Amino acid sequence: MARRLFYCDHHPIPLPPGHKFPVEKYALLRTLLAADGYYHMEPAPLADPAAIERVHQPAYVRAFLSGTLDRAILRQIGFPWSEQLVRRTLASVGGTLAASADALATGFGGNLAGGTHHAFRDRGAGFCVFNDLAVAIRFLGRRAAVVDLDVHQGDGTAAIFAGDATVLTLSLHGAHNFPFRKQQGGIDVALPDGTADDEYLAHLRAVLPRVSEFRPEVLLYQSGVDALEGDRLGRLALTPAGLLERDRTVFAFANREGLPVVVTLGGGYANPISRTAEAHANTFRAAAEILG
Ligand SMILES: [Zn+2]
Repeated sequence: MARRLFYCDHHPIPLPPGHKFPVEKYALLRTLLAADGYYHMEPAPLADPAAIERVHQPAYVRAFLSGTLDRAILRQIGFPWSEQLVRRTLASVGGTLAASADALATGFGGNLAGGTHHAFRDRGAGFCVFNDLAVAIRFLGRRAAVVDLDVHQGDGTAAIFAGDATVLTLSLHGAHNFPFRKQQGGIDVALPDGTADDEYLAHLRAVLPRVSEFRPEVLLYQSGVDALEGDRLGRLALTPAGLLERDRTVFAFANREGLPVVVTLGGGYANPISRTAEAHANTFRAAAEILG
């Protein structure tokens, strides 16, 4: 497996005081993993807008890049527009593209950003501008499975690949969480509030054989950790140990199936944010432990 990870936290984004987006978790996560010494970290390359336009409407891409995006769409995304936001967004997608190339070459690639699964073809939402998972799948050109374990449904990814027989989208999410209007994905598991480790893991283990039956050539893992108990934007109750077991289950599955795996982040809004950063670090530790 590739022993490198891509990051984009060196592109700070200006946010108003009290903004809900936990921008500090990204640098915190990189510090934790650097201290482990297993991976080395590289700045993510900026994605080429042409690669993004293979998924997103060119008019939407250009409006975002030039700062002329409709105010209502910006409001749905939840970030004020800035040049810095453009650079960070391109780096976030570029990190997933670089991780995808690593995955094909070595069996594993990781991005310490991305997993922006609420972005649709023509608009973003929920802190997601472009859908890096979808852009990476078009870049890879392989039969792909998305395993999305963020506590919020991967609605943008589901909509982008609706009717595409070469991509399977799996989402395990809180039934009562954002987005309140869910999309129909390949496999959707909507969990009740308060779902804890055992029940969650049983659901995950029950659906993985269906991913195997799909016979993907590559697996994209959206590894959001907002299913953690006490997360400000989640409603589930996984413990740190339960989340780690979740990660191990996904990597052991990929290993058994001989599937290259691309790991992106996703949500995570615990208080303090160090709990979230630690849970994200555990995902990459589990990858190292299981994929070698
Ligand atoms: Zn989320």
